[in-house]
Amino acid sequence: MIDREVLEETFKLAVDYFDGIESRHVGAVKSVKELRKDLVMNLPENGEDPMEVIRDMATKVDGGLVASPGPRYFGFVTGGAVPASLAADWLTSVWDQNGVLSISSPASGVVEEIVSDWILDLLGLPHTASVGLVTGCQMANFTCLAAARHEVLRSRGWDVEKQGLTGAPKVHIIVGAEAHATLINALKMLGFGTDNITTLPVDDQGRMSLSELEKIIKSCSGPIIVNAQAGNVNTGAFDHCGEIINIAHRHGAWVHVDGAFGLWGRITPILAEETKGIEKADSWATDAHKWLNVPYDSGIAIVANEAAHRASMALKAPYYIAAPEEVRDPSQWVPESSRRARGFALYGAIRSLGREGVREIVERNCRQARLMASLLAEDPNVEILNEVILNQILVRFLPFEGNDAGYFTRQVTSLVQEEGTCWAGGSRWNDMDAMRISVSNWATTDEDIRISAQAIRRVLSRLIQ
Ligand SMILES: *Cc1c(COP(=O)(O)O)cnc(C)c1O
Repeated sequence: MIDREVLEETFKLAVDYFDGIESRHVGAVKSVKELRKDLVMNLPENGEDPMEVIRDMATKVDGGLVASPGPRYFGFVTGGAVPASLAADWLTSVWDQNGVLSISSPASGVVEEIVSDWILDLLGLPHTASVGLVTGCQMANFTCLAAARHEVLRSRGWDVEKQGLTGAPKVHIIVGAEAHATLINALKMLGFGTDNITTLPVDDQGRMSLSELEKIIKSCSGPIIVNAQAGNVNTGAFDHCGEIINIAHRHGAWVHVDGAFGLWGRITPILAEETKGIEKADSWATDAHKWLNVPYDSGIAIVANEAAHRASMALKAPYYIAAPEEVRDPSQWVPESSRRARGFALYGAIRSLGREGVREIVERNCRQARLMASLLAEDPNVEILNEVILNQILVRFLPFEGNDAGYFTRQVTSLVQEEGTCWAGGSRWNDMDAMRISVSNWATTDEDIRISAQAIRRVLSRLIQ
């Protein structure tokens, strides 16, 4: 049996990591080269003592860890892990359930049923929609679009799961120019190919043009899938989803919404204008490991048409003893067979936060994003490039003698990362280099925002002097 001591020692290592997370250098302090030097070894011929392995690994990887669960990590769109969710995730590893079928883990199946209902309720989506718990929004986009592919072809008499795509009616795929890379990847994996994608122009915040959509969609005959976005990864902007859905549905199109983090905006009346009408879409992809602050990996695929969802994902084999109709087999809704029992971590997060707790995180992070933007903008060498309506901020550092703004912005970004008070990454917006700041962590306080804004401005003023 597993040695109790190993788990207890590991518990101490984990707790020490969390105790130090606020004071540690936020970015990694060791380079890949240094990490390789410390870690690379020949394949051991003989096994080693488990506790020694864990202790040594923890010591050697430490400098290469990024304090992304901590309160001053603003890279990508990340989020930390609320305590009950992290704890449930630990137990998920200990329980080591196979979340494939109800019979392989009845508890996992039932908990997935419960959190699926809670998620629909939190996001204000139809209670009849079906939910699949996947690895992340990449696979959520894939799952939703597989259901879309099934349905738009089925309604024209084509069974894509049986007949494949060769010879199928041409499916018109419409995206905005700011569609996320993972959405395009999902389309590629589903056999659509980038040549078959129509890309519509967007406005200065990245929102799809409605007049162009009207124009293009009128010219399409046959099946259509329109892809809208809730929460642009750079600006945080929302496509005009309600209007997009109305236009698309008038032409019989399926509308998919990629809302990896933005969909959580549905929880607050403050964002009612941005998120209105989203509930009328046909499918929605989102993440729990971003704004809901569940540990990786946790994405959610939601489909209004349960039959299309099931038909595109159903797994059949003689030894898969399917549960009776009324019992959930988690793998029937995702592209996976054996899988992590992802429901437990979601259960921990949602039950410990409640609707109010989730709303509080979203509202606080949005307010903190505006606070960060206004503190930075006090500096005359700072320009905020986006309308800060959500949790994303794009910052450009203005040129001074002998520098162009692009070079200077990249330089400030890398020096901020090196300084270590906080971490923000680089991005490009409207052909400009920018620093991108994402406020998505439950643990971030207003004081963290102030400390981080000061650190960024300190780096900036040192460079200008
Ligand atoms: C992060 C993100 C994705 C991809 O999500 P993963 O969890 O990284 O797979 C897709 N769409 C948008 C808008 C995102 O922000």
